[in-house]
Amino acid sequence: MSGPSFRYSRVANAHDALIQASRPGTAFLAGGTDLLQLWKAGAIAPAAVVDISRLPLDHVEFVDGRLSLGALARLSDVASHLDVTRYHPLIARAILASASGQIRNMATVGGNLLQRTRCAYFRKEGLACNKRTPGCGCGALAGENRQAALFGASASCVATHPSDLAVALTALDAEVEVFGAEGQRRFPLRDLYRLPAETPERDTHLAAGELVTGINIPNATRFAARSTYLKIRDRASFEFAVVSVAAVLHIENGRIVEAGLAAGGVAPLPWRLTRSEAVLVGRAPDARAIAAAGDMAIEHARPLDHNGFKITLLRNAVIRALQTIGGQP
Ligand code: SF4
Repeated sequence: MSGPSFRYSRVANAHDALIQASRPGTAFLAGGTDLLQLWKAGAIAPAAVVDISRLPLDHVEFVDGRLSLGALARLSDVASHLDVTRYHPLIARAILASASGQIRNMATVGGNLLQRTRCAYFRKEGLACNKRTPGCGCGALAGENRQAALFGASASCVATHPSDLAVALTALDAEVEVFGAEGQRRFPLRDLYRLPAETPERDTHLAAGELVTGINIPNATRFAARSTYLKIRDRASFEFAVVSVAAVLHIENGRIVEAGLAAGGVAPLPWRLTRSEAVLVGRAPDARAIAAAGDMAIEHARPLDHNGFKITLLRNAVIRALQTIGGQP
C-alpha cells in the first residue's frame, strides 16, 4: 500500500524555511510528535514538509534572571535544565506533566505550543468538524462535549487548547519570537493564539510561513518559591488536562504584591485569569482571598451539556493551587 505523496526539504536557516513554507499546503517538521499523529488521522495532508529540525534553535539560556528557550529545544532538556528547575520550577512541572519521557525526548518547545486540539471529532475522519473541514459543522457542539471549553468558544468551535507548557508560560507573561516576511518580531505569547469565532481552522495569528523561533521569559525568579502547576486529568498516566491551573505569587510582608494565574483545558487558548489575579493583589493569602480568586475564575463560564462539572473543578483547582503556594515558603 502506498503512502501519501509529498515534497520533503531540509533547511539550514530560518530564511530558507520562510521561503519554502510560504507555499500553500506546507508544514514544518521539528520533533514530529504531533505532525505525524495528525497526518495519520487524516486531519492534515501537507503537499510539502519543511524539516527545520537542524536549525540552531535548541538553546536553553538563563542570563540575568531571563530565560530564553529556542523553539527547537527538546522538552526533556528544558525540564531537566538546572536553571529551569531552580528558578522556573513551574515550567519544569508543566512539562513533566505533559507527556511521557519518550515524547519529551522528541517534542520541541515550538511544537508543543503549536500542537492542535485533542477534540476527538477533529482527530477522526468522517466526523463533522469545522476546524478540520471549514463549514461542515461542529460535531462537539451538541454531541460529546465533556472536554469542551467554558470560555472563548463560538458556535463554530468549542475545542480546548492542549498545551500544558503554554498555560505555565502565560502565567509567567512569556513572550514569543517569530521570524517572517517582516523579519523578527516579539510579542506576548497569549497574543499568538486566536479565538475560533467564525474561522476555527486557524489556531494562531501566524502568517503563512512564519516560524516560531523562541520563547523569552522575563525575570520571574521572585516567583520560584511560590509557583505550581496543578493538572487534573482522567487518568494518572500521561493524559491531556480536563482542567489545569498555573499559579505564581510574590508575597512581601505578608501581602500578595503580584499574582499570575492561567488555566488550561477550559478555553481555545491558555486562559489568563486576570480577575482572580486582581482580587488577590494587596491582600494576605488567607482563605477569604483565595476563595474570592476561585469565584472570580469561574465568572462568565458558559458550559455546554456535558462539561458543566468543569466549573466546580476549575474553582477548586484555583483554590488548591493558591493554598499550595500561599503559605510559608
Ligand atoms: Fe471541530 Fe472544534 Fe467542533 Fe471539535 S469543537 S468538532 S475541533 S469544530
